[in-house]
Amino acid sequence: MTPSRQHTVSQVTASQATPVQTTGDQTMGDQTTGDQTMGGLAGPPAFRRPPRVFRGYALDLDGTVYLGGKLLPGAAETIASIRAEGSRLVFLTNNPLRSPASYARALSSLGIPAEPGDVVTPLGVLTAYLAGRHPGRPVLTVAEPLVDETLAAAGIPVTSHPAEAGVVVVSFDRTFSYDKLLSAYRAVRHSGAVIVATNPDPFCPTPDGGLPDCAAMLAAVEACTEARAEAIMGKPSEHMAAELLRRLGVEAGEAAIVGDRISTDVAMSRSMGMTSVLVLSGVTAADEAASSPQHPDYVIDGIAALLPDELLPDAPRPTEGSSDDRVRVHADPARPDRGQPDRRLPGDPPVWFALCRV
Ligand SMILES: [Mg+2]
Repeated sequence: MTPSRQHTVSQVTASQATPVQTTGDQTMGDQTTGDQTMGGLAGPPAFRRPPRVFRGYALDLDGTVYLGGKLLPGAAETIASIRAEGSRLVFLTNNPLRSPASYARALSSLGIPAEPGDVVTPLGVLTAYLAGRHPGRPVLTVAEPLVDETLAAAGIPVTSHPAEAGVVVVSFDRTFSYDKLLSAYRAVRHSGAVIVATNPDPFCPTPDGGLPDCAAMLAAVEACTEARAEAIMGKPSEHMAAELLRRLGVEAGEAAIVGDRISTDVAMSRSMGMTSVLVLSGVTAADEAASSPQHPDYVIDGIAALLPDELLPDAPRPTEGSSDDRVRVHADPARPDRGQPDRRLPGDPPVWFALCRV
């Protein structure tokens, strides 16, 4: 291991971290889970690289694998090393506008071979949820065509008639209209349909300041129906967590979620007892990680530092964190029952991969 590799484990100083009450070795040496780690220790995160290889990894995409249209340093090499070790791996996104196949093609074009089944989006979670919770019930959608196509492909009946609907699915919909709202209203108020939403995000980041996302359409439907969604897919929901574990095929204690957002990636790991690894290559800066009420099990400055020393890729190291090259976030509170959304400032680095425009 080179000195530079050691240096990448954390850029958090002791003064920022304050009392560290557990270490990576203590956490993982007895194979305990993230939940067990944090349950009795209300301290800041252990600013260390995970000391072992997990059997399953769930990697957030934006801010973890790539940023600004480019792979982050060491991403391809780290993912190749994980696969070479025989571990399972899936990719996560909250964007319901693109299909897993589209993400897989894009990842492959960036040098990370991927199949559609490797990518967990809110739509994949949605179809699993509906098939399990509401089998055979016709679904009326407030959504773009991809949602209807995905449901139909999964054998879930889709209807445009409110009287037939058992479920109203609300998604990020750039074709949202009064007619759609009226149909949803009638399905819920008159026919007793339940509401399910694809993701909790209030807006989707774009280079020109963002677009209203699913939470905006959901708010309209909930307001006029006076009903609340029974479930919201996507991070940080337990539905997303359950689906990624199903895809990984490992127990929660053998899975690690790696992401750049404490409020979604780290929070979701807690719902199922997975281990969390926060990367400081995206929206969360070191000072925010230290002060957050959510405590990741491990904090590293980039995906290149994810694996134990002997498996670290020989790749460019992550940048050492000037605030100029990080995506900054607002600190405005999210609705407590909806988790924290993506909140980027206008003018932040564009991420072509995660853009709302398709
Ligand atoms: Mg992210």
